[in-house]
Amino acid sequence: MKKVFCDIDNTVADQYLRIRKHFNGKNMHKILNNEKLILNDRIINHSREAIKLISKKYEINWLSARPKKLFDVTKAWLKKKKLPNERLYLVDSHEKKIRILKSNDVGLFIDDMKYDYFNNAPKKMTRFIQKLKRLKIKFILFDGNWKKAINIYEKFF
Ligand SMILES: [Mg+2]
Repeated sequence: MKKVFCDIDNTVADQYLRIRKHFNGKNMHKILNNEKLILNDRIINHSREAIKLISKKYEINWLSARPKKLFDVTKAWLKKKKLPNERLYLVDSHEKKIRILKSNDVGLFIDDMKYDYFNNAPKKMTRFIQKLKRLKIKFILFDGNWKKAINIYEKFF
């Protein structure tokens, strides 16, 4: 079975809402690492149905740039939200996401590919996206709308 690699923050878990609710200008570390806050992340609309649909054709692998110490809480969140949680990769940078993708037979990669949520102005990771193209890794640039993502998915895969 081919593999899908799917991001977590701002792709299935609403980390941006966590930031908007709790960020006070100086507690970035707490917001990124507090297990209680993470466990309470809202699931992004329609992601469960979409992942379920994708999982009929692909093996779901989660690929997140979160610190390794958040492995258990990330698994617990996936379980809590009734998402598959068997395969989870945590890496410390987006650069390392590319490394995981390169070393696997990736059928599809889904990620919001944005940064600067803390400045309330998410921007596209242009170089990261160029690299994916260069490596011929198929991807969906997730923009917050799973219904749209599934439409793209069905057209191309
Ligand atoms: Mg993300």
